[in-house]
Amino acid sequence: MMLLALQGVGLMAEYCAQCAKQYGMSNGFINECKPNYLANVICEGCGVIQVNHKGECVSHDCDNGNHAVEWKIKK
Ligand SMILES: [Zn+2]
Ligand SMILES: [Zn+2]
Repeated sequence: MMLLALQGVGLMAEYCAQCAKQYGMSNGFINECKPNYLANVICEGCGVIQVNHKGECVSHDCDNGNHAVEWKIKK
């Protein structure tokens, strides 16, 4: 798995909210960033994605298809 090798410091397998639900894991990215911000993370199910402050995947092009939540940065 090339992707796993490239993760480097990401030793723990972590999952976004949707993948956590799907795989019965815990959400690894809760409060990864402030409300109305996004964080770049690596989800074990999605690959490199962006999550909101609830740990929900918002990347519609992630490896896990169309589970991303709608997300608009409020200005
Ligand atoms: Zn995803
Ligand atoms: Zn995910």
